[in-house]
Amino acid sequence: MTIKTDVLIIGGGLAGLSAARVLQGKKNYLLVEKEAGIGGLAASVEKNGFTFDYSGHLLHLHWKETGDLILRLLKNNHFKLKRNSWIRLKDVEVPYPFQANLYNLPDDIKSECVSGFLEAYNTSHNSLATRHSPLAVSHSQKRPEVFTHWTRRVFGEGISKHFMLPYNAKLWQYPLNRLTADWCAPFVPMPKPQEVLEAAYLPKRKTMGYNPVFYYPKRGGIRALPEAMAKDLKNIHTGCELQSLDLKRKIAFIKGLGPVKYERLINTMPLKYFVGLIKSPPAGLKAHNARLRHNTVYVLNLGVKGTSVKKHWTYFPEKEFLFYRAGIATNFSRRLAPKGCDSLYIETATPGYALNLAAAEKKIFRGLIKGGVIKSEDDIVEKLWLKIPCAYVIYDAARNISLPAIISILADNDISSIGRYGAWKYSFMEESVKEGLETAKKMLVDNF
Ligand SMILES: Cc1cc2nc3c(=O)[nH]c(=O)nc-3n(C[C@H](O)[C@H](O)[C@H](O)COP(=O)(O)OP(=O)(O)OC[C@H]3O[C@@H](n4cnc5c(N)ncnc54)[C@H](O)[C@@H]3O)c2cc1C
Repeated sequence: MTIKTDVLIIGGGLAGLSAARVLQGKKNYLLVEKEAGIGGLAASVEKNGFTFDYSGHLLHLHWKETGDLILRLLKNNHFKLKRNSWIRLKDVEVPYPFQANLYNLPDDIKSECVSGFLEAYNTSHNSLATRHSPLAVSHSQKRPEVFTHWTRRVFGEGISKHFMLPYNAKLWQYPLNRLTADWCAPFVPMPKPQEVLEAAYLPKRKTMGYNPVFYYPKRGGIRALPEAMAKDLKNIHTGCELQSLDLKRKIAFIKGLGPVKYERLINTMPLKYFVGLIKSPPAGLKAHNARLRHNTVYVLNLGVKGTSVKKHWTYFPEKEFLFYRAGIATNFSRRLAPKGCDSLYIETATPGYALNLAAAEKKIFRGLIKGGVIKSEDDIVEKLWLKIPCAYVIYDAARNISLPAIISILADNDISSIGRYGAWKYSFMEESVKEGLETAKKMLVDNF
């Protein structure tokens, strides 16, 4: 028997749940989630008294409607925290953002960073207009600028060499001379020359960037948010995976439910894999889809006997550390671990290949001891690997051409593809909530 619905929502992460909240009671909808629980990347996992997230998931709120909604849903279950994050380089640590806190660095590196920055700032193509352009575009070609060029143009040689290039190479796992810089504007803080100079010579800590203050649930890990969001929602089907899609007949085949006939579809699962499920795709769709790329992130969560480190997280740009970031989740909320213990998350990226977990653990433990996060392996009392197969989507020239083409073909077939992976972009939780709300509201207005 074919189930009929007005709106079929694929994915029970924050984007899908937000859309369902708007449609609830106003339109017939069905939300299907392949996993046994909701939350997507904002899920948390319980293990022997520890609550582990899919790496640090902090709520930085930028818009009134979504910010109010998120805090209202969490009720009093949240802390407001001031970011305490660092970068480790040459055995010293500088506060994040690197470019605005150079004072701790050895003198030779500091002067390389400062002089490089000033030189870059003074060159003709580093005018104010281009520095603050939201989309980094090279003038000659009117195409998104590649990251290697962008970072040298904006930050100069020293900052690029010592932080921007090695850190981003570790994170993206993609050649940086092919990675475009159009993701940078919201995420990379851009200090003015005076701020770089002051912060290089005066030990005055600068707080900049998109998350200087953030919220985190007191209890339950980040999963507390999707759980609060889903509380009154009906029509959520977990353990139900989209397996194939007939665009022409508007029928989705869902494991556990069978065929579902829809009028509109909201997709939030990774676009590349969603498109791969379309039967007899329209001309060009497959070729465009083949050009989308992403990396993979492995998160090693550790329960440890109490650490004295008070930081939230530290970035590790140097090659001798396998991981690019290590955080202390219990510094967001003590309730994430049993008494006397702390909880750590360590993130390692690959271009997609499977990480040899046993070998990786050895390297990670060595790095954590060298980095001063733990004293000895004997401190580790619990561990859990969580894999994020599609973690950061790759921004490159191919994405710039193929993504709009794919989104447009889907739109012509009454499909809105939204959220961090549905829209195939680098974004944060609040943005997924915003897109879910807006997409569903638009559907109500369209009154189809
Ligand atoms: C390492 C890392 C750290 C991050 N840290 C932060 C942070 O600190 N702060 C922040 O705001 N954001 C952070 N983010 C981003 C944040 O996780 C996302 O923006 C947000 O959770 C995405 O929600 P979503 O609903 O768009 O997608 P998802 O959470 O990915 O939801 C998509 C859902 O679709 C389901 N699905 C997949 N395939 C199918 C199928 N075939 N059928 C049915 N369902 C399917 C998935 O199981 C999933 O539940 C981080 C991301 C990563 C990778």
